[in-house]
Amino acid sequence: MTTRDDCVELDLADPLGRVRDRFALPAGTVYLAGNSLGPPTVHSTERLTDFASLQWGHHLVAGWRNDGWMDAPLQLGRQLALRLGASPGEVVVCDSTTVNIYKLLHAAVRMRPDRRVIVAADEDFPTDSYLVDSVAASAGLQVRRLAPAAMASADHGDVAVVVCSHVHFRTAEVHDMATITTAAHAGGALVLWDLSHSAGVVPVQLTALDVDLAVGCTYKYLNGGPGAPAYCFVAERHHESLSNPLTGWLGHAVPFGFEPTYRPAAGLQRLVTGTPSVPAYVALATALDATADADIEVLHRKAMALGELFVGEVRRRLGEQVRMVSPVDPTRRGGHVALAHACGYEIVQALIARGVIGDFRAPDVMRFAFSPSFQRYTDAFDAAYHLAEVIHGEEYRDPSFAVRQTVT
Ligand SMILES: *Cc1c(COP(=O)(O)O)cnc(C)c1O
Repeated sequence: MTTRDDCVELDLADPLGRVRDRFALPAGTVYLAGNSLGPPTVHSTERLTDFASLQWGHHLVAGWRNDGWMDAPLQLGRQLALRLGASPGEVVVCDSTTVNIYKLLHAAVRMRPDRRVIVAADEDFPTDSYLVDSVAASAGLQVRRLAPAAMASADHGDVAVVVCSHVHFRTAEVHDMATITTAAHAGGALVLWDLSHSAGVVPVQLTALDVDLAVGCTYKYLNGGPGAPAYCFVAERHHESLSNPLTGWLGHAVPFGFEPTYRPAAGLQRLVTGTPSVPAYVALATALDATADADIEVLHRKAMALGELFVGEVRRRLGEQVRMVSPVDPTRRGGHVALAHACGYEIVQALIARGVIGDFRAPDVMRFAFSPSFQRYTDAFDAAYHLAEVIHGEEYRDPSFAVRQTVT
């Protein structure tokens, strides 16, 4: 049995403790929603203030040239590529995940003009599913929805692109990127992976696995801030044939040539659409700096250890009163643990009132994320303790916890 004192010892011995010290979290809060929005760093305010007062305030329009604003999409892309097992020119940071899925799905379909089918994961994150439907409708393609496990053994001989989230947003199940990618390629299809719940917590090796395309957001385990720009990965072998359906001027070969017709820029600059939101890049750069020396294997091991500690404590205190939705095997699980309970919404609200911040996904799933860059072992222990208190004491039955918020 693990005691709270054991957890204090584990925190003291944790080599990632120095990384946690770089994050600014409110005292008395156990923050388990880093899979939805990571916290700021202790330098975020200073870096954003410097940006506003010095760069924007003094350099004004020259900031585009002199402060690297225009280069931010590819510059931050180079930093992210290192963390995704990709080469430096293969990642660009721009737009939202939603917009990037749209762009890369269209690009994939154009790279396979003779194929009539898009294969998409069933029960994927809604934005991914909605865009698959929209792109298929506008390109006159059919959608074939498969469980990720079935994608690995399906025949993809008539398929343009196979689209799947690496880590499932609700269950945290890790899907088999190697096998699904190989199966897609065997049929001549491309693959598009959504890494939103992987980057920063689960190791990803895009080049080694021969992945074609990927997208993901940076405000979850990468802590980039609310609305931080997302990213696109495109394997270098596809750069020549890559077309962006959103032919914006900043993806043009010579934006300041103001030519009357579109010509794509070299490399992934062509995936940039319009003017980047510079403060959002400043916030993301600050977050990436804070975790630059944290090895992803070490982060992943810690996330698994925290999850195991939490699951063990929940089992010990609550037995079968909550149902494990996530895979039991920690290597098959991303950064969060999903538990189901008929009153899951109310329980999450009661926990928030105690300063334990998780979230809820309809119909009955409570998510508790273990962001390894800032979470402590004591957090995992305390979360299980408070969850058990809320359930044993039926604290969640207080009617105020039943009031539904728009963001859950
Ligand atoms: C979080 C998440 C998104 C979010 O998309 P936005 O455009 O940033 O709102 C998309 N897909 C998946 C799988 C996600 O987990």
